[in-house]
Amino acid sequence: MALSTTSINGQKVRFGAGLRNYICAELAELGSNKALILSTPQQVDMAMELATTVGDRAAGVFTRAIMHTPVGVTEEAVEHALSVKADSIVSIGGGSTIGLGKAIALRTSLPQIAIPTTYAGSEATPILGQTEDGIKTTLTDPKVLPRVILYDPELVASLPPAMTVTSALNAMAHAAEALYAKDRTDQTTELAIDGLKAFAEGLPTVVESPDDLKAREETQRGAWACGTVLGLVGMALHHKLCHTLGGSFNLPHAETHAVVLPHAIAYNAVGAPELLAPVSDILGGTDPGQALWDFSKSMGAPMALKDFGLSEADLDRATEIALKNPYWNPLPVTADGLRALLQNAWAGNAPSV
Ligand code: NAD
Repeated sequence: MALSTTSINGQKVRFGAGLRNYICAELAELGSNKALILSTPQQVDMAMELATTVGDRAAGVFTRAIMHTPVGVTEEAVEHALSVKADSIVSIGGGSTIGLGKAIALRTSLPQIAIPTTYAGSEATPILGQTEDGIKTTLTDPKVLPRVILYDPELVASLPPAMTVTSALNAMAHAAEALYAKDRTDQTTELAIDGLKAFAEGLPTVVESPDDLKAREETQRGAWACGTVLGLVGMALHHKLCHTLGGSFNLPHAETHAVVLPHAIAYNAVGAPELLAPVSDILGGTDPGQALWDFSKSMGAPMALKDFGLSEADLDRATEIALKNPYWNPLPVTADGLRALLQNAWAGNAPSV
């Protein structure tokens, strides 16, 4: 039986195993008779299965979504959507597919239904990152927020174990940084804590038993809370570092978040110890950075940036780039502090400050 809830930003948000099979009812509610279904090339089977369920209401599938939403792919997808006279977009996949749906919506105002299959949380934000000529820019526009999110735990159950862990840590990073955000409110703090708790409780079970749908649903509730809070408050040092490492060194998105998170939180715990206390209250111990590092290690997460091909010689340049146009942060970011943080993250050491 699918449970229903309404998110605080006006989206319709539903959770439940098998929910994807209710897609026609959602399309009917939107008044859509020609839904264009989006996926990555790796998730074509999921997209085709969904197209079969959508039946006569499907306008076809577009399966070329890729990481970082390149504008060239978006333009092809918009052209395709117009040529098949699509009247809605259904994105089935992770942040890359949902990003393409948002990019199409920005240009066409078509309503979107998001069916997430990772924990990245893009479905719950009005934020769109796009890449053109190798440069990624981010915008916020209510037009890109999907109208409906269907969290179906059966779909996320196929996420490979390694990606399950890194994607969960990517989501937890939104919540951890929300705890000390300059524009936080009691409501965003509560959401962040709910998100962290959901992963602290659900992820160990999911890692142990990937097909445990109850635990998968719990982690999807965490993904919704973490994604929603990402859309409500500004992010700081951790996200800046991950954008630098992803954008300038082409490091993988979720994996980089997973490695950097304990180190960025250890750094900021010096400036915001009380605000970050919920992290260690939830994960155990008394030190938020160490608590995250221990949790990541116990979940089998990657622990070292050097394992993604980043060379030690790149760390000075990464420090330099990350110090340019800095995001607001709860305490000043110094070159020496940042370089030491990156050294630990690169080598796979426990965080130290
Ligand atoms: P992704 O969407 O790129 O997926 C990674 C790979 O895993 C893809 O090949 C995908 O097809 C596959 N995959 C996804 N779910 C699967 C499943 N259940 N089973 C099997 N394979 C599956 O990865 P992601 O981490 O979800 O998204 C990353 C992108 O999302 C980045 O570009 C990031 O910037 C963006 N993002 C945006 C926001 C936002 O608010 N705008 C938030 C978070 C992430």
